[in-house]
Amino acid sequence: MLIVKKFGGTSVADKERIFNVAKRCIRDYQNGNDVVVVLSAMGKYTDELIAKAKEINPNPSKREMDMLFTIGEQMSVSLMAMAMDALGVRAISLNAFQVTMHTTSNYSNARLKKIDTERIRRELDDRKIVIVTGFQGINKYNDYTTLGRGGSDTTAVALAAALHADACEIYTDVDGVYTADPRLVPTARKLNAITYDEMLDLATLGAGVLHNRSVEMAKKYGVPLVVRSSLNESEGTVVKEVVKKMERMLISGVALDRDADRISVIGIKDAPGSAFKLFNTLAKKNINVDIIIQSVGREGTKDISFTVAHDNLKEAIELLKEYQEVLGFERVDYNCEVAKLSIVGAGMMSNPGVAAKMFECLYNENVNINMIATSEIRITVLVNSEDAVRAMNAVHGAFGLAEA
Ligand code: ADP
Ligand code: ASP
Ligand code: MG
Repeated sequence: MLIVKKFGGTSVADKERIFNVAKRCIRDYQNGNDVVVVLSAMGKYTDELIAKAKEINPNPSKREMDMLFTIGEQMSVSLMAMAMDALGVRAISLNAFQVTMHTTSNYSNARLKKIDTERIRRELDDRKIVIVTGFQGINKYNDYTTLGRGGSDTTAVALAAALHADACEIYTDVDGVYTADPRLVPTARKLNAITYDEMLDLATLGAGVLHNRSVEMAKKYGVPLVVRSSLNESEGTVVKEVVKKMERMLISGVALDRDADRISVIGIKDAPGSAFKLFNTLAKKNINVDIIIQSVGREGTKDISFTVAHDNLKEAIELLKEYQEVLGFERVDYNCEVAKLSIVGAGMMSNPGVAAKMFECLYNENVNINMIATSEIRITVLVNSEDAVRAMNAVHGAFGLAEA
């Protein structure tokens, strides 16, 4: 078997944990498997690198940030190879350049385009454990890029797809995917299985346990994924195409995204093309918007509100002000003290009343809803930050997800 095993920052945070991971990988190797290991930077090292950069320049370029970030993952892979060597097993570390992980050219949020597998294959054929840097890639200018925060998961899934691996295991600091972030909702339960679609929504809507693009890629290439703990032997959560009804609840999970900000464009012309011009202006600068609501027109104008990630807020506001005349609106305002709370579940499709139940629960908690968005398998509401965790726990309980 060929197994891809990915370990996150906490799992390689210090010497003991590095040796713990090394031993786990060696066990699979000694059972006759080919083993490819993908690692993140140790502990919170990526955050430390950001802090270091900001001491020097509060607005560092994305290219130089990506250059800096590569240190983190390179440190963990080389130390891991040394640990395996110390344990008497042949291992080699490779970075994105050495493998060649080709990505799009945009720094800080690049997408993997193609992975050359020849070097990895050669090292595996030579009976080595191959340890690859997560998170990083190379663009057409031969510059380092990164895949976005949490992107090592995507490196692992992409490698599993490219190598036609038999298994892709994501090891982290919790026992698997839970019905909600166990750090925020103490009664959250571990799921044995979840569908790609549900996991994709949860990950996109704030459940940081998996990078959302890793789930997208796993679905696209049919990579069987398992999320489990690096600190114990418990079974973890399988992410797959179909989950049997028996194993499934109406709602699979609740997610909170505290990174969302609301922008409102007030008094924009109530005429064809206003929304197009507004969102096209933002899209051209790669600013993603999520929940959108538009008011009913009055006296020839209307208001359009939407959410953006906090990182994009400043740029979005500046851009809108720059184009105020062209877009033709009165003013723009924003609110950072908001959070997106979502429930996700494939069971929702065939069950009316799910939204009403969520709204009733929030009403009982006296939580005001600022915006609402729905899809077939999710309902998202924008609430005030101060209410967010309380609302999350209440909704989680109301749908019977809490541990008995
Ligand atoms: P790693 O460094 O291993 O990639 P992350 O911090 O990226 O770890 O992801 C694991 C964290 O995700 C957990 O510690 C947990 O707090 C958080 N998390 C958020 N939502 C969920 C969820 N639904 N299930 C499990 N963990 C979650
Ligand atoms: N080290 C990177 C980060 O902290 C990538 C990852 O952990 O997946 O975002
Ligand atoms: Mg992660």
